[in-house]
Amino acid sequence: MLPFDRYEGGGRKLLGRPPGGDGTCRRGYGVPVFKQCGLTCVYCGRFLGAPYEAWLDISIDHVIPRSAIEQLGVPREWVEDVANLVTCCRACNEFLNQYRVNPPAPQNLAQFFDLRDQVFRDKRELARRRHAEERMWYEKNVKNG
Ligand SMILES: [Zn+2]
Repeated sequence: MLPFDRYEGGGRKLLGRPPGGDGTCRRGYGVPVFKQCGLTCVYCGRFLGAPYEAWLDISIDHVIPRSAIEQLGVPREWVEDVANLVTCCRACNEFLNQYRVNPPAPQNLAQFFDLRDQVFRDKRELARRRHAEERMWYEKNVKNG
């Protein structure tokens, strides 16, 4: 089960690049993503729709990262399309922000979506491990102060 399964077109068609809006994900470019993907972090499962403080932690992740545009020559229209965007929390976004995709670059949309699914699974596992590490550190150093 992937978040893209519920996207319009089963997550296998381009949905257009989100409008910038006011420049924030919450009221701008995130709006069409939340519509497809919902308000729960796809990586850790945290619900971000309420309360207000959780909503402030809502964020958007490019599953195939933007670095793939420069480094692999993946078309910008694909990478920045809603079909490559997911709802996530700020913590997961931070944990994953160094993620890089290795060559070969996808040569067509079908390969692009296959790669996106593979990268998504990989990132979800990475986020799970990073949370486990962070939680251990937190429990040792902060919680029991
Ligand atoms: Zn998360």
